Amino acid sequence: MHAQPPRTDTPLLQLRELGKVFHTDEVETHALSGISLDIRRGDFVAITGPSGCGKSTLLSILGLLDPASSGRYVLDGQDVADLDARGRARVRNGRIGFIFQAFNLIADLTVEENVALPLTYRDDIARDALRRRVREVLEVVGMGHRTRHYPGQLSGGQQQRVAVARALAGDPAILLADEPTGNLDTRNGEAVMQLLEQLHDSGTTLCMVTHDAAFARRAQRIVHMLDGRIVDEDSFERLRAERDLPLPGLVGAAP
Ligand code: ADP
Ligand code: MG
Repeated sequence: MHAQPPRTDTPLLQLRELGKVFHTDEVETHALSGISLDIRRGDFVAITGPSGCGKSTLLSILGLLDPASSGRYVLDGQDVADLDARGRARVRNGRIGFIFQAFNLIADLTVEENVALPLTYRDDIARDALRRRVREVLEVVGMGHRTRHYPGQLSGGQQQRVAVARALAGDPAILLADEPTGNLDTRNGEAVMQLLEQLHDSGTTLCMVTHDAAFARRAQRIVHMLDGRIVDEDSFERLRAERDLPLPGLVGAAP
């Protein structure tokens, strides 16, 4: 028997009946129950729902920061339950980019050093290539002119752009963003949102947690959560079927 190459229509991420229970003192919190979700390459998924419904818990599991208590998570054909701590770290560093609400930049490193940091944990990237890659992603997010600044010298919106560059530096298979506009004013939030849309248009797979309904509607799919469960999904495809809209990616595609 020959191993078949993965089919391109196989979902990048597959969750099946995922559950997460937190045990604290005498309390058991069922943060997630029965979560089943597929994310395909090139998808832009928004996860939305009220505070405490399990959005961040779900994103932590997707990003291999925290294990699920039950169920299955297959990432690019690999059941993550089969990975040890080293394997998980390798997948996290190589395949996943994170963007957090609070930017999480290191205050005493420059913009350039912050973006380079996750790459320095990898042994497959030479110094010159690393420097080139850092410049390149800082250009992508429009921060190529601020490489020697420190985070404290930048606006919130600029800091989040640097955080997006850091997430992109390792050329991840998927970008996970937890309330990326949550700490930003309207104008800066809009700028970061436009940057994420641009990345999606250029092929990046994105999963964004937000409780901002207007931002969620700009994704291709909206997954609604309540009390640790997925309660509904609005997908662009369904809307398209209903309204006969053009396919995503064909709208305003670059020449
Ligand atoms: P959201 O991001 O949607 O606001 P969270 O995923 O942060 O929600 O939390 C979901 C539920 O799990 C909440 O009831 C929260 O209190 C609980 N929870 C989250 N993290 C922990 C933890 N480390 N220990 C115990 N309970 C937690
Ligand atoms: Mg949260």
